[in-house]
This record gives sequence, structure tokens and C-alpha cells, in this order.
Amino acid sequence: MSALEPPILPASRWAALWPGRCAHCDARSGQPLCHACLQQDLPLRPRCPSCGVAVAQDGQICGHCLLHPPQWAGAAALGDYRFPNDQFILRMKFGAEPALGRWFGDLLGARWTQAGLPLPDVILPVPLSRERLRERGFNPAWEMARRIATHLNRPADPHALRRVRQGIAQSQLPLEARRRNIRGAYACQTRWDGKTLLLVDDVMTSGATLAETTRVLLRQGAASVWVAIALRTPFDPAP
Ligand SMILES: [Zn+2]
Ligand SMILES: [Zn+2]
Repeated sequence: MSALEPPILPASRWAALWPGRCAHCDARSGQPLCHACLQQDLPLRPRCPSCGVAVAQDGQICGHCLLHPPQWAGAAALGDYRFPNDQFILRMKFGAEPALGRWFGDLLGARWTQAGLPLPDVILPVPLSRERLRERGFNPAWEMARRIATHLNRPADPHALRRVRQGIAQSQLPLEARRRNIRGAYACQTRWDGKTLLLVDDVMTSGATLAETTRVLLRQGAASVWVAIALRTPFDPAP
């Protein structure tokens, strides 16, 4: 992936949505980050093909995935979930800026194609519970998923996978407790026999949410489940 150029979005697409300045350096920009900041903050760098964490070399599987291979087939991430990129996630979720989700979706869609990853039959966002959706007004993962769907020219379905139990927010829990907290929190009635699915979420930290949603989809017959995330929490603490 390192030989590829970062995807550059047409400025015209963002002009109507963004105030025209780069969030980091304040240069005039048609998207949230100018081209220079995009390459500096969300650089194309080798990432574990299983979980998206940054690794030293292309194709290298990280130590965690070697010990505990995930049930999903592979993952792509744009960058690390750390400052300054975490600001985009916080603004998107808590500042109610769905346009940032669509921007992440555009970048991920372009990167998915560039990396030559398999085209999914259907794209599914990790859903929010009804209460959380009402509170937030939109699902960031759906904003991402529908733009990825446009890029890949594949259908997306925001309703097939449902969050049936809210539980405690994963971010409030220590890593080891997250898997237990999320067990049974998602449901899906749709059969996916033989289908390749792409699950979309904004951030992967412990991977417990994606592991549980993958489990549900495989149980419904999916041949394989892939994962696209905007930002991946690094294993090491932020410098
Ligand atoms: Zn900039
Ligand atoms: Zn990994």
C-alpha cells in the first residue's frame, strides 16, 4: 500500500460543506484537511492486514493478530486514533458533524479500491441503539458506509444489523471487559449465505464490537466479513 498515492478528493465536493479552511493549518482547503496535512496526518503507511494497526512493513501481521486471529477476513484503516486525528471523530460524534463521516467514507472507499481489497456484496454499518441514534441524530458509521458504497458501486444496508441492547458504552470499560459487555448486543434476521460483507465503523480499539458483529453475520451464513474503519487505536500509548 505504501507505493500508492493518498486519495485526493475533488475540492468541489467539499466546498459546499466545509468552510474552506484546513482544520489543522488553516490553509484554504476544499476538504477538512488540506492535501499537505492529509499526507502528514493520515499517511499511507504499512498496516496489519488483519486489524489495521500500524506495522513496520507491508503485509506484516501484527503480534496480536498472530496470537488471536480475528474472525473477520481483513481490515483497512485510514490512520491512528490519536491526536490530531481523534479530533475529527470527536467533532463528528459530539459536535454532530455527519459531513466528517462522509469524508472518512470517501477516503476509505478510495483506499479500499487502491489496495485492491475484495468488492463486498453488501456494506453494513455497525449500528447504534435506537436511543443512541435519537440522542446523536445520525450514525457516523452509516455516513461512512453509504459513501464507501457509492465508491465501490455496491449496496449498503443500514437496517439489517441491529443493536438490540445498549449496555455500557465500550469506551467506559477496560479492554478485557469489553467483549463480555458486547456479547448478545447485536442481532440480524437477514440470511447472508455465501455473501462477502463489509462492516464499517469509525474507530477500532479492542475490536470487541467488530468481533461480535462479525460473529452475528457469520452465523447468518456470510462467507466472509471484511472491516473498514476510519481510525485504529494504536497498541502503544501516544507519544
Ligand atoms: Zn493543512
Ligand atoms: Zn493486527
